[in-house]
Amino acid sequence: MRSGTTVADLKQSFLDTLFCTLGRVPSAATPHDLYTALALSIRDRVLKQGVQTLETYHARDVRMVAYLSAEYLPGPHLANNLLNLGIWDQARQAVEEPGCDLDFLRQQEEEPGLGNGGLGRLASCFMDSMATLELPAVGYGLRYEFGIFDQAIRDGWQVEITDKWLRFGNPWEVVRPELTFEVKLGGYTEAWTDEQGRYRVRWIPQHVVQGIAYDTPILGYHVNTCNRMRLWKAEAVESFDFAAFNHGDYYRAVHDKMFSENITKVLYPNDEVIQGKNLRLEQQYFLVTCSLQDMLRVHRLLGRPLEKFHEKWAVQLNDTHPSIAIAELMRLLVDEYLLDWDTAWHVTRHTFAYTNHTLLPEALEKWPVAMLGALLPRHLEIIYEINRRFLGEVRAQFPGDEARVARMSLIDETGERYIRMAHVATVGSHHVNGVARLHSDLLKQTVLRDFAELWPEKFCNVTNGVTPRRFMAVANPPLAQLITRRIGDGWLKNLDELRRLESLADDAAFRQEWREVKLAAKRQLARCIAQHTGVTVDPTSLFDIQAKRIHEYKRQHLNALHILTLYLRLKRDPQADLPARTFIFAGKAAPGYFMAKLIIKLINSIADVVNRDPVVRDRLKVVFFPDFNVKNGQRICPAADLSEQISTAGKEASGTGNMKFALDGALTIGTLDGANIEIREEVGVFHARAKWPTSRLTDAGPMVPDGQPRRDPGVACSRLVRQRGSHLV
Ligand SMILES: *Cc1c(COP(=O)(O)O)cnc(C)c1O
Repeated sequence: MRSGTTVADLKQSFLDTLFCTLGRVPSAATPHDLYTALALSIRDRVLKQGVQTLETYHARDVRMVAYLSAEYLPGPHLANNLLNLGIWDQARQAVEEPGCDLDFLRQQEEEPGLGNGGLGRLASCFMDSMATLELPAVGYGLRYEFGIFDQAIRDGWQVEITDKWLRFGNPWEVVRPELTFEVKLGGYTEAWTDEQGRYRVRWIPQHVVQGIAYDTPILGYHVNTCNRMRLWKAEAVESFDFAAFNHGDYYRAVHDKMFSENITKVLYPNDEVIQGKNLRLEQQYFLVTCSLQDMLRVHRLLGRPLEKFHEKWAVQLNDTHPSIAIAELMRLLVDEYLLDWDTAWHVTRHTFAYTNHTLLPEALEKWPVAMLGALLPRHLEIIYEINRRFLGEVRAQFPGDEARVARMSLIDETGERYIRMAHVATVGSHHVNGVARLHSDLLKQTVLRDFAELWPEKFCNVTNGVTPRRFMAVANPPLAQLITRRIGDGWLKNLDELRRLESLADDAAFRQEWREVKLAAKRQLARCIAQHTGVTVDPTSLFDIQAKRIHEYKRQHLNALHILTLYLRLKRDPQADLPARTFIFAGKAAPGYFMAKLIIKLINSIADVVNRDPVVRDRLKVVFFPDFNVKNGQRICPAADLSEQISTAGKEASGTGNMKFALDGALTIGTLDGANIEIREEVGVFHARAKWPTSRLTDAGPMVPDGQPRRDPGVACSRLVRQRGSHLV
């Protein structure tokens, strides 16, 4: 039975797949063969639910969410699918009988690194959440052949290694060769009048490539719903340009193939900063047109009228990366399907909603008019026409205010002319949201202030979240089991139920168990650290962790300066009564971001000095854990006593790492930034009690005297200066 879930069924599937699909017997199989056989067996079960889900959606004629995101960071699929299917224990036994260890097989899985950090992980958390809530949804994205680079540390410096994640195949995806769409690029446009006397525009492209769909099932937790992540891969329209080939121009023919496949070759490894490269714009357009053509295909297949497209599709733009979709839907409706402009614009504006992720000027997308016009000549015309009509509205509302018109224009004409993609996204969407309360407020006061004045009702807040399934149940089973023993397992679907733990704060037995769970997680991370870095750390010391992309605004260097402060204090006074503390950093720097790479080097240099110094050795340790990704995040979060969330106030839109650590019971050291503020309202404030006379705290940097946390913009959830019995706050 390829869908049975008893131990016997799973064992049979596992062995059959190993033998029939991979051509191996257990004794000759590599660890990766064994992992693949299990993954394919589990995929069978998942796909069966996917088929049933699609049938249900069609039968009920539902409205679908299409989440458009240039990035996804799903993390390893195997464990999550086992949890969601509720067959973790059966799978463990099924592989045990032929002599395999489930955790060992899990370690063989290479995660899809199709994103940089928080934004990509948010996309995957939403996919998980929508499936669990049984919302009809599809996540559209790009199947980068090389995802985010693997990070190694050599001589203290970051070294980037290409991420060949598809090298051994990807058992979770299913290719859909019949779902292929043409993508035009470059060229020029021609206006003409058709037989009915209508004004028409035709786009004569310079290149045509095609996108081919790869589906990955996204299962909900303990429900029958299984949605899909549909990723597009770029290919040449023909494997070879036969005309060139027949003329003996073999190299030109192969070159065209390479040009096409280049589009989804590699993810741009920048977080929170734009790379104004032509190839990046090609990637964005490629994602958008394949996805919209796919939605229109389904819509028409089901016999629905195009005027009602927005009643059946709700398209969410994950940042401005896919915002060229607004011009593309207009082009498809007006040029290809002959809707009149006003109808097409009504449909478009009711289809899209836009999530803003940043206020940082270096991260606000803008494309030089010349570049956009060369790649997408028709879209530039459409953007001009949207702008002309929009600025007419602005002038009607604010007569004579030409400064406002210039500020709000979709075109920045203050120097070289640029298209402001945040403006395009805002004008073309029915809702615009920020990702935490503070961020949504600041968005309305700064970057989109004029738009919030024009359309106050368009703006809303949707504070980011993370899935407790992956970041608690999968990452930290002992903690999940402890909580479930005390309050049942409802919290896995309704996190509010965690409140019921508050009544256990004075339960000594519970606190003791909680401490044991935390210590076990720290021992496990300590083993992992020894393995990956060679540094020995004491699991009974405080684990003080900052794990996230390296950025000046995230201020890893502030944390580094705090370490130096503690180090110098110990050097000056070796008897100083400081708790033993292990500082753990993890995170990748963008390859072209010199300062971020220098911060990594600084941390490793501090580690070299501190970890070697016999005076402090057992009281202060510094570790840089290489290659932060979802898999490593699942190892790191459960072991944290302290979670460092110390971004410059106003710069971190939300943060989601802060939530993962808080869920794993760490105390947050944070600035009043992003979602830290809302987390603090939920978990409460902990006032550090100074263990030393305050005079000795003067050089302690952000440490605060008894009872009075500093608010502006400094450290709010005051520094924990000694280990507490419980981290339940
Ligand atoms: C959660 C997560 C992030 C985001 O962390 P922040 O602290 O919010 O910046 C980045 N990378 C990975 C791998 C994550 O899992």
